[in-house]
Amino acid sequence: MPAHSVCNRHCPRAGRRRKPGHVTVTKPYEVTQPLPRRDAVRAELIARIPAWYRPWAHLAVPSLVGLTAIAVSVALLHDVTPLEWLFVPVVFVAVNFNEWHIHRNILHRRMWPLEVLFWRHTPEHHVIFIRDDMAMRSSKEFRLVLIPAYGIVAIFFTTLPITAALWFFASHNLALLWVATTMGYTVAYEWLHLSYHLPADSRIGRSPLIRRLRRNHAAHHTPELMQRWNFNVTIPLADWVLGTTHPSTRSAS
Ligand SMILES: [Zn+2]
Ligand SMILES: [Zn+2]
Repeated sequence: MPAHSVCNRHCPRAGRRRKPGHVTVTKPYEVTQPLPRRDAVRAELIARIPAWYRPWAHLAVPSLVGLTAIAVSVALLHDVTPLEWLFVPVVFVAVNFNEWHIHRNILHRRMWPLEVLFWRHTPEHHVIFIRDDMAMRSSKEFRLVLIPAYGIVAIFFTTLPITAALWFFASHNLALLWVATTMGYTVAYEWLHLSYHLPADSRIGRSPLIRRLRRNHAAHHTPELMQRWNFNVTIPLADWVLGTTHPSTRSAS
């Protein structure tokens, strides 16, 4: 495939806003690109990373925000009943299905007004990292894997109506458990996703849990499969229930 045949958001016509309801054409991205082409896209994206970018701050600041929200929420809990504790796995399952939905329908299909998420994911993250070449080459590439640093704050505020509804109409404990679980899930998502894109022979990359989960995500990083299979980045629960676990990753080994 010639170098110009994969377009990204910087191509002349690609940045136009898609009207709601339009079908996203993703076929050009559903082809494994040869290494020189992937290297060219990678070099272009790295060249665009601003000089002020600090990869470890990109990892640490949202993690600290999430962990602080969890610590504050847990500290404010008071006489939690067994039924209230049960709310944690319920939220976990709901968020797992939401993760599947966002990945499949927003990161892989342009959805107004969140098109920037599609552009960062399908034509960039998925072109650079493929199943047999998943590892970041430097910490600067955290920028190509992690969600934007403000993402966790945005998630906190967009879920605030649910937090408020639980606080005022259910119980303070449920509102606090909601915040702790959603923030914990977001931090876990970031840490796990980053771990899958570490070298497979690194200390974290060698751990049995990361190896097993990376196999799921690596199959999703096959461009020919990415629009259809393995949308969970964390625990592949929704993939299993909705039948989107790729056959090559169904066995536990
Ligand atoms: Zn990935
Ligand atoms: Zn994806």
